[in-house]
Amino acid sequence: MARGPTLHTDARLLPGDRLGAAVVAPSSGAPLAGSFEFFPPKTEKQSAQLWAAIVRLAPVGPRFVSVTYGAGGSTRQRTYDTVRRILRETDLVPAAHLTCVGVSRQEVLETAQAYWQAGIRHIVALRGDPPEGTERFEPHPEGYRYASELVAGLKQVAAFEISVAAYPETYPEARSAATDLDNLKRKIDAGASRAMTQFFFDVDVYLRFRDRAAAAGIAVPIVPGILPVTNFARLVAFSKSCGASLPDWLADLFFGLDHDPDTRRLIAGWVAIEQCRRLITHGVREFHFYTLNRAELTRAICHALGVRSSDLRACAPAPVA
Ligand SMILES: Cc1cc2nc3c(=O)[nH]c(=O)nc-3n(C[C@H](O)[C@H](O)[C@H](O)COP(=O)(O)OP(=O)(O)OC[C@H]3O[C@@H](n4cnc5c(N)ncnc54)[C@H](O)[C@@H]3O)c2cc1C
Repeated sequence: MARGPTLHTDARLLPGDRLGAAVVAPSSGAPLAGSFEFFPPKTEKQSAQLWAAIVRLAPVGPRFVSVTYGAGGSTRQRTYDTVRRILRETDLVPAAHLTCVGVSRQEVLETAQAYWQAGIRHIVALRGDPPEGTERFEPHPEGYRYASELVAGLKQVAAFEISVAAYPETYPEARSAATDLDNLKRKIDAGASRAMTQFFFDVDVYLRFRDRAAAAGIAVPIVPGILPVTNFARLVAFSKSCGASLPDWLADLFFGLDHDPDTRRLIAGWVAIEQCRRLITHGVREFHFYTLNRAELTRAICHALGVRSSDLRACAPAPVA
């Protein structure tokens, strides 16, 4: 499969769709594109799951796939090994997440240099979450305090493509929505060429944020982060910590399904497909999927949107022996 954007269709609505006229996508001519986020595996079992997901998702032709960097920098080596393996064993374009937590500036830039030398050209630059069990981020005495500083440092190392995080519902620690937007602008001005958002479910929240970003002079793509919900109970706890709100209608859709994973999966796929289709009608052409190292939902969502490989035979499941 060729590197680079290979996704070439407009999202088409099903005939008689309930949302019908309201969501017909204006065809901008630009192809739809997706990127997929994975986390580095800890065990053999997780590793097998990750690679099964990569093999199943690769034929969809993502623009890039990214590998997270564990809270507190806990997965430095595993992130590096996973990114290297993707580069070595697939045709995918890998991006490495890199954070400022617990390391000096020199150490983080050495890691970046190692990535560049290994052929990795895309970094997702983040301040990072504090180590587990710690409430607040404390910068290393000789470290970067903010992602914007990291972006500037990375640009000194090499001509990386750099993506950064954005928060449609405002980062929980931020003094205000306006200062948070100033921060995003600083990251772009320092050299980032794409922002990928925290997950959200209310499309209007994203659209308002995108408008405010445009008004603030942010001209890079603000790529919506799409989280297919697999476990609503876990999502409730996680959302609190990252400041993402959960609309009542979402809670209602998952109500009573705690012990019914099959139905949950179907609902999750439908919710994400509808969310993406609404975004497409508002001109969104690129999505970042939080895959949680599972292929099925992301693959189904991409398929429904028309984000498909040009060679569908490559997507066929292997025959059962
Ligand atoms: C797409 C995506 C991927 C992610 N991947 C990871 C990952 O792999 N590993 C991980 O640990 N976490 C990850 N995160 C979470 C992220 O690291 C955390 O949310 C982290 O706590 C904040 O990182 P940031 O890069 O957004 O921080 P920053 O952009 O540095 O912002 C952090 C806070 O500091 C404030 N701020 C920034 N600059 C200034 C300034 N000069 N003065 C005053 N205040 C300022 C901001 O407004 C904000 O409140 C990811 C998040 C997203 C959306």
